[in-house]
Amino acid sequence: MYKCEYCNKEYKKESTLAVHLCEPKRRHMQKGEPHVQLGYRAYQLFYQIGTNSKKEKTYSDFATSQYYIAFCKFGYYCRDIGIDDVPGYVRYLLGKQARLDHWTRDKYFTEWMKERQKTESTDRAVERTIIFLEKWALENDTVFSKYFEDISPNLATFHICSGKVSPWVLFNSSSAQNLIDTFNNEQLKMVTEYLDIDFWQRKMNTNPSDTHWTKEILEKAGL
Ligand SMILES: [Zn+2]
Repeated sequence: MYKCEYCNKEYKKESTLAVHLCEPKRRHMQKGEPHVQLGYRAYQLFYQIGTNSKKEKTYSDFATSQYYIAFCKFGYYCRDIGIDDVPGYVRYLLGKQARLDHWTRDKYFTEWMKERQKTESTDRAVERTIIFLEKWALENDTVFSKYFEDISPNLATFHICSGKVSPWVLFNSSSAQNLIDTFNNEQLKMVTEYLDIDFWQRKMNTNPSDTHWTKEILEKAGL
């Protein structure tokens, strides 16, 4: 007899076992997929932080967990939205005591990104934005310094309102300012509502050396 190591079902022929697919085996085979890996990492943190447990959860623990589907759904969400710091986001959600089935709500992501933008250092904000622009350039077979010239106002609005482009870059790059000039009223309204403009004006005025540094580095980068 040939036994499936995942569900213990037995077959007379090895060839039947080879084509047999049960849910535990499917989960095992999906291990390498990006959304599963993201979900798995989030699951580990969930236990590590939530229960203060020292022992790291294994993939097998994850695959047999009742939360497997919920975490994979969260993994899809993180992948689709392009969250660059999933562990940081998971810590935020745990801190907010958000219910697991609410982790894919945009409301949480928006709040987290707004908070993060306001507290991250200037160089981290610029670095994070440039990494995003480089990714965009690679996908569009161009160079990152073309972003503000070539991007459509609609897509730019979406990127700004999902925190991909930091206000540090948006307000200190001359090509970004040119792009904003082409926004229609609706796009301007969305960006203004997302960004707390007064906060950013104050922040830049009270940190003139950071503002100067950002302008200089963006100019050198052709932005
Ligand atoms: Zn099986």
